[in-house]
Amino acid sequence: MADLKMTTLDGGTTAIPQETVEAFTTSLRGDVLTSKSPGYDDARSIWNAMVDKRPGMIVQCAGAADVTRAINFAREHGLLVAVHGVGHNIAGNAVCDGGIMISLAGMKSVRVDPKAKRAWVEPGVTLGDLDNETQAYGLAVPVGINSTTGVGGLTLGGGFGWLSRKHGLTIDSLISADVVTTAGAFVKASADENPDLFWGIRGGGGNFGIVTSFEFQLHPVGPEIMAGLIVHPFSDAGDVLRYYRDFAARAPDELSVWVVMRKAPPLPFLPEDVHGTEVVILAALYAGDMAEGEKALAPLRAFGNPIADVISPHPFTGFQAAFDPLLTPGVRNYWKSHDFLELSDDLLDTLIRYVGTLPDPQCEVFIAQMGGATNRIAPDATAYRHRDAEFIMNVHGRWENASDDDRCIGWCRELFEAATPYATGGVYVNFMTEEEEQRVAEAYGDSYQRLVDLKKKYDPKNMLRLNQNIRPE
Ligand SMILES: Cc1cc2nc3c(=O)[nH]c(=O)nc-3n(C[C@H](O)[C@H](O)[C@H](O)COP(=O)(O)OP(=O)(O)OC[C@H]3O[C@@H](n4cnc5c(N)ncnc54)[C@H](O)[C@@H]3O)c2cc1C
Repeated sequence: MADLKMTTLDGGTTAIPQETVEAFTTSLRGDVLTSKSPGYDDARSIWNAMVDKRPGMIVQCAGAADVTRAINFAREHGLLVAVHGVGHNIAGNAVCDGGIMISLAGMKSVRVDPKAKRAWVEPGVTLGDLDNETQAYGLAVPVGINSTTGVGGLTLGGGFGWLSRKHGLTIDSLISADVVTTAGAFVKASADENPDLFWGIRGGGGNFGIVTSFEFQLHPVGPEIMAGLIVHPFSDAGDVLRYYRDFAARAPDELSVWVVMRKAPPLPFLPEDVHGTEVVILAALYAGDMAEGEKALAPLRAFGNPIADVISPHPFTGFQAAFDPLLTPGVRNYWKSHDFLELSDDLLDTLIRYVGTLPDPQCEVFIAQMGGATNRIAPDATAYRHRDAEFIMNVHGRWENASDDDRCIGWCRELFEAATPYATGGVYVNFMTEEEEQRVAEAYGDSYQRLVDLKKKYDPKNMLRLNQNIRPE
């Protein structure tokens, strides 16, 4: 039988004898797929349809032992390595051409201890899976706003969502992690064990090892919360956004209000003549007492002449999936992101100008409200550096056809450039595209050298390079 040709770490090729591949496959609980295996195309498909890469081998790990064997196999054969959690990352580093894709997607266990308020979570778990298990006990980890996102990649980059102003970033609830290093060692990272590694994996992405289990502190949440959307006509955008900015500055930690500007989807609570026209959506969640939430949201709901106001008690898990229909997998995506300390008049006018020229009905501008507990942690306490951000903007370019790539990408880049004078220069690594290598150092600011030193210690050959890469040199 023919040898398996694979891409090496230095970009060359190597031929692995069939019997070596077979012995490796037999050593695993999970499966090995090559280009001829059934399920290969499914296994290499990720959220962003712009990424179409063909790994030489996909290892579908069933547990930490498989991960250890896979990284050892990769090291012994000098292979290019991609680590795949749930495959949601915009940059598409979860797959590679020709190398080994170590997939953790099948590792989906969540164990909750409701009494101790702890959860042990494997890296193939989605936010929806996690919420489902923890909400059975009225508990939650602060994670992101799209339920199909992977907990693994989200946590390693920092992680934030509706609960973050109250309970901090996802990493602020991380108690420990099991990590398989590129040397094949299984180590724990926590405040007491390997604290340097624990510091690095809280924001430093997948640079230092492969996490096979996350231990989280849980917080009481819901299971019903006050949440929903207020939709304003785009003609009022200037006044609405200025009011929002002042309202957000006074909001209690329990309250998070994000802005979405886009063409209105055909939602049943919107009049038909609004569908397909630009709107300003204020999406809000109050993580606390329902009556207090109603009180806190009253002024925002009373402002202006909204087209719709659907704020009401909701199951927390339902609101966690509220944006899923707008963020489905399988279309082409390109993102650009900035951190802001404030939303100045000029910035708001710039954003409004660009939203007036959306290149596709699926393109949108998201502004996440940060602050609260997220910026009460010292910037050097974890690798996630830019705790000062009060708002994080994400320009979501989304469209169906490759023929629209240049137009849609061009719009995202132009908007990004126009907004740059108002931004801090910091950026959230999980919102960066593959081509933004030069922004990695900016993402880590004054912590960058410490991360380089950590990389030298845990991955001196830079085997884990398909990520927002911190180079060991
Ligand atoms: C629609 C959408 C909405 C989002 N919303 C939010 C949000 O609200 N808040 C937020 O914080 N982020 C959000 N994100 C960003 C999200 O945090 C990242 O995309 C994250 O990387 C997804 O993790 P994953 O495991 O699914 O990704 P993957 O693509 O599988 O992994 C991304 C990278 O992380 C590394 N990695 C993943 N798992 C491991 C592991 N166990 N060990 C070592 N390395 C690993 C690898 O380098 C891999 O290339 C969103 C993304 C999308 C697409």
